[in-house]
Amino acid sequence: MTGAGGRPSLGILGGGQLGRMLALAGHDLGVRSVCLDPDPDASCGQVADQVVGGLADLEAAGRLADRVERVTFEFEAVPAATLAWVAERRPVFPPVGALRITQDRLSEKRLCEALDLPVAAYAAVGRPGDLPEAIRRVGLPARLKARRLGYDGRGQAVVEQPRDAAAAWAAVGAVPAILERVVPFARELSVLAVRDPAGSTVCYPLVENRHHQGILRLSLAPAPGLTPQIQAQGEALAVRLLEALDHVGVLAVECFEIEDRLLVNELAPRVHNSGHWTIEGAATSQFENHLRAGLGWPLGPTEMRGLAALVNCIGEAVDPRRVLRHPGCHLHWYGKTVRPGRKLGHVTVLAQDPQALSERVRAVTEAVTIPSAVLRRPLIDSPRRVDPPEPTA
Ligand code: AMP
Repeated sequence: MTGAGGRPSLGILGGGQLGRMLALAGHDLGVRSVCLDPDPDASCGQVADQVVGGLADLEAAGRLADRVERVTFEFEAVPAATLAWVAERRPVFPPVGALRITQDRLSEKRLCEALDLPVAAYAAVGRPGDLPEAIRRVGLPARLKARRLGYDGRGQAVVEQPRDAAAAWAAVGAVPAILERVVPFARELSVLAVRDPAGSTVCYPLVENRHHQGILRLSLAPAPGLTPQIQAQGEALAVRLLEALDHVGVLAVECFEIEDRLLVNELAPRVHNSGHWTIEGAATSQFENHLRAGLGWPLGPTEMRGLAALVNCIGEAVDPRRVLRHPGCHLHWYGKTVRPGRKLGHVTVLAQDPQALSERVRAVTEAVTIPSAVLRRPLIDSPRRVDPPEPTA
């Protein structure tokens, strides 16, 4: 309910760092947030009110709904049945349909195809007996991906040869899957776009994402060497998806860039790790814009304040002094227990030119491990050398 002084209130299903950053953005706007999470010390619960309970626990979800005007989610594995149940009591955003479609890789691909958006060749694999035909149709090498609940590279296995198929089926958990052709992409880009209930949309500059062992380690914003054509392609495909899903809030579209073309890989109907740099690096952060959309407030501009990079802090504690002594570096720490492979915080690096950005990102490695493979490719778009003209006699 609207609190004292007409303070808007927001329920957040999930209590991780995405919820935390939503709640913090809401705090600045006078929005009171309550999250639902089973962990009594949830990252979001440290900065907002919390109902302690599981995301499939309808009684707990009801207690959350009773305390707020509207509800969003920060975790795409939240059971769609919970969101549907909450939607009968309070307005929710993004809509239940967007969550249902993006929870299933097969329906995501079918949506893209229906909208004429390019995706890698794929086939549905409902049981092991479907694999030979899927391999014949898709070709090899390919990746077998569980249709549901895969993230950060989990629930996937590479099929190089037909004889790998049985092991791949077991490795993804013997669950319904899709087989997808491995595509020779140049790099991975994400598009973050936002839509409000009236259908207005805004889009952030496309970002280059570098992963290591399936986990995002570094994002560069805008993607170095981003052409206006690729930006326009990314915006156009994101807007088509937003409209088809009748989406409200942020939608992240993970893409592969191949020459001058984008292939859609995966959708996330929520604020996204590759957009954390927007807190300091854009005129309006993705978190604020998600809230503005959900509250029916005007969307904010997405222009960048210079160049930005996002460095994820994975699995190890970070000494703040070693980050903060470098200019342009901002540390966000999520208040989570340190565990290997866990996203614990991030650093946003800002600079006005590519050289300074590259130097600052490398300086951050003093405090935060960035796998060397992630830094192997240059962080800046090296300007093409123009040979001086031959002297004329
Ligand atoms: P996903 O969970 O679909 O985002 O996949 C995790 C990571 O695996 C991606 O970020 C890519 O690095 C890689 N990957 C996924 N699908 C493909 C594909 N069809 N071809 C090549 N690499 C892929």
